Parts: sequence; C-alpha cells; structure tokens
Amino acid sequence: MPRAVVTGGAGFIGSHLVDRLLAEGWQVVVIDNLITGSLHNLRHHEGNPALEFILHDVRQPFMVEGAVDYVFHLAATASPVDFIKRPLETLTVGSYGTEHALELALAKGAKFLFTSTSEVYGDPLVHPQSEDYWGNVNPIGVRGVYDESKRYAESLVMAYHRYKGADTRIVRVFNTYGERMRLDDGRVVPNFIRQALTGEPITVYGDGRQTRSFCYVSDLIEGLWRMAHTDYHLPVNLGNPDERTILEFAQLIQQLSGSTSPIVFREFLTPDDPHRRRPDITRAKSLLDWEPQVPLEEGLRRTIDDFRRRLNA
Ligand code: UDP
Repeated sequence: MPRAVVTGGAGFIGSHLVDRLLAEGWQVVVIDNLITGSLHNLRHHEGNPALEFILHDVRQPFMVEGAVDYVFHLAATASPVDFIKRPLETLTVGSYGTEHALELALAKGAKFLFTSTSEVYGDPLVHPQSEDYWGNVNPIGVRGVYDESKRYAESLVMAYHRYKGADTRIVRVFNTYGERMRLDDGRVVPNFIRQALTGEPITVYGDGRQTRSFCYVSDLIEGLWRMAHTDYHLPVNLGNPDERTILEFAQLIQQLSGSTSPIVFREFLTPDDPHRRRPDITRAKSLLDWEPQVPLEEGLRRTIDDFRRRLNA
C-alpha cells in the first residue's frame, strides 16, 4: 500500500486529494498548521487508521517516520485575502516550506508533486496562458508575495530535480472551486455564494469585466491523480478553459441560488488584479488525456448546496 504525505491536506484542495488517495487504498499522512485549513475537512475519515494527522508548520523543517512513497506539497496561503493579511508567511511557506517538503522527498526517495499556481503568469500579456509563457508579475506588488514565492518554489523544485535527482512534478493550478471552500476565504466563489445566500449585496470588484476560468474540484483532483503517475517534470496547467467575466459570474450565482441580492461594484482588493485568465490545457490533454468534465453550472449548484448546508448548520 503506497504511503503519501500531503502538506496542506486539511485545506480545500488538499482534503479532496486526501479523499482520493484514501479511496485508492493509500495510507496518508497530512501535515497542516490549520492556519487556513480545518480538521472539519477531514472529519469524515475520523477513526480511519490509514489517515494520520500531524499538526506542523512546514516553514519549520520536518521528517516523517517510516516509508514515504509520495510527497504532495500543497501547503500555501492561496487566497488574496490571506496573502494580504499574511505576506511574510506567504513568502516563507513557498520558500522554506517547499524546501522542507523537497528534503523529505529526497530523504525518503519519494516522488514529489508541487501545486504551483496560475499566478506565476501574473497579469498575463499572452492569452490563453500556456506553460511556455514566462508571465508578467510585479515583484513588489501586493500579490508579489504569493506570485514570487510560487515562482521561487518552481525554481527550487526544478533545481532539486536537475541537481539532486529529485523525482518531481509541477502543476499550475488555475482557479478551482467546490465543496469545503472556507466560507470567509475571501475569494470570489465563497464571497458571491455566501452573499447570494444571506441576502447581502454581491460585491463585484472593479467593473467586473476581468475574467477567470473556474475548474470544479473533482476535475482538478483527477488531473492531479493522473499527473502523479507521470514522469513529466516540467509544469503542467490544470484548469477549466471556460472563461467568464466576473460580472457574468456574479449574475450566474445570483440566478442559480435564486437570490435577490443586488450586485454592487467595489474597489479592487489589489491594484494588480489580473485582467484575463484562461488556461491553455493542450499539454494536460496530450500528456494526461485530461480535460474538465463538470460544467460550471453543475459544479456551482453542488457548491451552492454545500454552502447552504454549512451556513444553516
Ligand atoms: N472578486 C470580486 N469580488 C469578490 C472577490 C473577488 O469581484 O468579492 C474578483 C477579484 O477581483 C478577481 C476575481 O474575482 O478579479 C477572482 O478573485 P479571487 O480572489 O477568487 O482569486 P484570484 O483569481 O484573483 O486569485
């Protein structure tokens, strides 16, 4: 039975990956400091001896007892609200955290998968974004702490691969949504759904003409699972190419949740909010035979149901 370590395994994407690994018969060790993750996300596995939880901040070095076959390094403060509130943690989880996760993989002879981000493309000047694009990032901007920490981490992963022989993979995760996103996470999906369900105004930042492309979490997890089984070491985009403006997105959530909340326009949270974002998934398609299956409307319905349940709990 393979044994995996998942950093950030109590987070939104991390906990869905843990579900998948356990369902595939793996043993899983979750390492999380619970700053943005929550044990709630794993409580359905309570009492399962295949799952072990270690409360630890990956910015400090760590080792795990026993054999480890795979290290999935997901730990990060990934919401703009988080990286504005915790800039130094954001930088160091990307730098020290990634180094420590790589050291664990090297020490154990384990395979390694790092979840990078579409933010490495910054406010992109090329559209859609393919892996060959080097990006347009403001290093000293408010988002720079996240973008640069992930860019540095990619650099570190490649250096460990090239010079230390680490068996690594890099996935660039584009906007992903689904059940278990933190209600107060501050990202657009939790904000709009919470606002729509509680009758608060739906806050569109800027004029709402900026675009994003949203991937449902089960599609992303399938992509991560397939990627974990490749020997491909260069970055691979995973995301849904179905691009919408944020204003369209607000209207869709309003409609799907049957909400009477008005749509209001607010200042951008960060001045360098990317204008457009859509993954070019040609590489994932040919390498993994992967593309998203869940349409936005269906994924949003499931997510709205989950939010409704949690808001009423
Ligand atoms: N956004 C918005 N209202 C909100 C939260 C976010 O209009 O309440 C916008 C934000 O300005 C950005 C997009 O939605 O253009 C996606 O933001 P999010 O924070 O989800 O993630 P990002 O893709 O920017 O990392």
